[in-house]
Amino acid sequence: MNKAPVFFLSHGAPDFALEPGIPGAHLRSIGQRLPELEALIVVSAHWQTRNIHVMTTPAPDTIHDFRGFDPALYDIHYPAPGHPEAARSAAKLLRDAGFTVHEDARRGLDHGAWVPLLHLRPDVDIPVIQVSLPVDADTRTALRMGQALAPLRRQGMAIVGSGSLTHNLYEALGHMPQAPEHAEAFGQWVRATLTSGNIEALVTYRQHAPAAERNHPTEEHFLPLLVAAGATEADEPITTIEGEMRYGVLLMESYAWGLAAEDEQATPL
Ligand code: ZN
Repeated sequence: MNKAPVFFLSHGAPDFALEPGIPGAHLRSIGQRLPELEALIVVSAHWQTRNIHVMTTPAPDTIHDFRGFDPALYDIHYPAPGHPEAARSAAKLLRDAGFTVHEDARRGLDHGAWVPLLHLRPDVDIPVIQVSLPVDADTRTALRMGQALAPLRRQGMAIVGSGSLTHNLYEALGHMPQAPEHAEAFGQWVRATLTSGNIEALVTYRQHAPAAERNHPTEEHFLPLLVAAGATEADEPITTIEGEMRYGVLLMESYAWGLAAEDEQATPL
């Protein structure tokens, strides 16, 4: 079996569920090109725990873990099955890599998982599990998590980091004058760094990327990109999934690795 793909998905804010726009349309089109997959293993910015938790829930609920957005969002459910066996494989690999891992048989899907999957896979036909981010994770920890999970790709499990390419919610929600230039400059730096395969630069992005702290006042929406990068191989071509700027400063660009070329689709849907 070929290796399953790896994604970094920018989910921006919860209302992306109701307003697909350009990034939603691109995710939908990419989702139609996916090979048959055993599971999607999602590391979302919205599940941070002490150590690592792995969701072994057989039928996860949809968690509406946000406030202050359109009430219609609470009516949306993403009833993907879980995959306890895949979850236990993920937990074992993470333990083998030296992490302390807890299994959680009640956890549901947070909006970092279900909002982008709503567009990527609207038919809800692939089991989903989540792996949490340790609260004290740094870029190197996140990279090691991706490296630990990478072997699952050979078992048809796609690794999905879900965050946001830029994520200053304070500016996004109107508390400060908006200046998208700093978000655009950061996005250009990340794109160039990923394309050149310079993972070490990505690990030390806070020292090198333009306006890193302004674009990510806290790091949890950036770390899923490191998880994704860790699950890839050095020579794997990257596909940029075009996004757009939301709320003036939230850049919604996403990335994929290991996708079949458009003219050699594996599974017609
Ligand atoms: Zn988020």
